[in-house]
Amino acid sequence: MKQWYADGLSFECERCSACCRHEPGYVFLSSRDIRDLMEALALDFRSLLRNYCRIVDLGSHAALSLRETKNFDCILWGQGACTVYAHRPVQCRTYPFWTQVLATEAAWKTESASCPGIGKGRKRSLSEIESRLAERRESPALKLERGVRMEDLDEDSLLGR
Ligand code: SF4
Ligand code: SF4
Repeated sequence: MKQWYADGLSFECERCSACCRHEPGYVFLSSRDIRDLMEALALDFRSLLRNYCRIVDLGSHAALSLRETKNFDCILWGQGACTVYAHRPVQCRTYPFWTQVLATEAAWKTESASCPGIGKGRKRSLSEIESRLAERRESPALKLERGVRMEDLDEDSLLGR
């Protein structure tokens, strides 16, 4: 079936930081994200978890998310931008080409109210959009047991070693 976005979609990040600040939300982390952030921040596993992460109970399972500051900025936002931009998590890297945002044209238009880059700038081809979707599928957010404590998380199993 032909996707409604088969002819491509325009998007150019305007670096407004609206998706990084001022509102509560989650940046769910994959194994790859944890490895990338350990490298970007020059931190070991325990220090990264202790200082930048939180466990979120999602009902069916738990997940690992980045923390937020008191005013709901992402913990990794600072001095006008993402402080780890080149190593930002897959969830951030693939936005706005997420399954739920691409589900319908109406969903894409609704999302544009939150992101001024949607509908602007360079047209992204179908293959570029599909590669973003694939990137997200290939690095899924970690699924943890409900009730697990941060100190009980095992580095080797979380990082797939
Ligand atoms: S809200 Fe959109 S334009 Fe603004 S920083 Fe996020 S992705 Fe870029
Ligand atoms: S990791 Fe960077 S891009 Fe992602 S929400 Fe935080 S500040 Fe924004």
